[in-house]
Amino acid sequence: SQTPVTVTLTGAGGQIGYALLFRIASGQMLGADVPVRLRLLEIPQGLKAAEGAALELQDAAFPLLAGVDVTDDATAAFDGVNVALLVGARPRGPGMERADLLAANGGIFGPQGAAINAGAADDVRVVVVGNPANTNALIASAHAPDVPAERFTALTRLDHNRALGQLAAALDAPVGGLRDVTIWGNHSASQYPDVSHATLDGAPVLPLLAERLGGADAAERWLAEEFIPRVAKRGAEIIEVRGSSSVGSAASATIDHVRDWVGGTSPGAGWTSVALPSDGSYGVPEGLISSFPVESVDGQLRIVQGLAVSKFSRARIDASVAELAGERDAVRALGLL
Ligand code: NDP
Repeated sequence: SQTPVTVTLTGAGGQIGYALLFRIASGQMLGADVPVRLRLLEIPQGLKAAEGAALELQDAAFPLLAGVDVTDDATAAFDGVNVALLVGARPRGPGMERADLLAANGGIFGPQGAAINAGAADDVRVVVVGNPANTNALIASAHAPDVPAERFTALTRLDHNRALGQLAAALDAPVGGLRDVTIWGNHSASQYPDVSHATLDGAPVLPLLAERLGGADAAERWLAEEFIPRVAKRGAEIIEVRGSSSVGSAASATIDHVRDWVGGTSPGAGWTSVALPSDGSYGVPEGLISSFPVESVDGQLRIVQGLAVSKFSRARIDASVAELAGERDAVRALGLL
């Protein structure tokens, strides 16, 4: 039988963790024939919740689940890790300045990066969900000099999936016919959800939107004033309607991210969006962890090259990338890189 894949989840006692665990253990992330060993990392006050989740995993009797360990020790949690899901983060408290938030998270993601550096398996893949996700990933990567930088990613798949959902609704079409939407930049309100290369059943969506909305100008207005802000601020909308934050969709997007990274994006389904270290593509400064159109081939993520970037897109990509550069400069000034 196959050696189990070791999956480490931080913030395992939290809400997203709770939604993730059962899907991982059932085989939805790594495959229906791949056994998994789970390592749940928590801070001391979160340990009970993680231990409770571990009891429930036992009660679910997943045939693929080879074991569950719960710990508050990062070194133990990341020993031999193949897939690291960094979900636990310090939320912004009342009156907390941005620098305080970055510093608090630096104190979490720096040591976790060092523990990954010390103990991870050679094929380790890291996805950061905890916010500010892109910059947390940058901090973790900076503390893991022996791990190739491209193994550190941040989640923008939820934004990508939200864009697909909004576009499908606007076109009154099933989401499965859509492909090649892109999220650029930071996982924040400055992100740029881009539909300029998107197609529906092979037909470009921009003309379809123009047709439905009464012309190209009306379509551009809808993108600028409704679609983009709605996708970027969807998290706040969910909190308002649901009374608590988006948990199921965040967990689902995390599963999608890892599944496509490990198993590959299917050529017929187009690209996805991943925040990964820039190689300078599309004018994004090298090293910033920024979201791009990405394909996954043979277990490797590749930025889709050669896409035309309109003036409309350029300004929005640049604005989000400038925010990322500002976050990087702030954590550098704090000595966290
Ligand atoms: P959640 O599980 O709901 O969220 C965890 C993180 O995911 C937050 O940083 C949150 O950011 C982020 N996130 C990213 N995308 C989304 C989205 N679409 N919707 C909601 N959140 C999103 O938080 P809980 O408070 O329930 O759980 C966090 C757990 O992490 C706690 O149990 C805590 O003890 C633990 N923790 C563990 C650490 C460790 O293992 N070393 C370190 C720090 C905390 P945002 O705040 O911006 O919503």
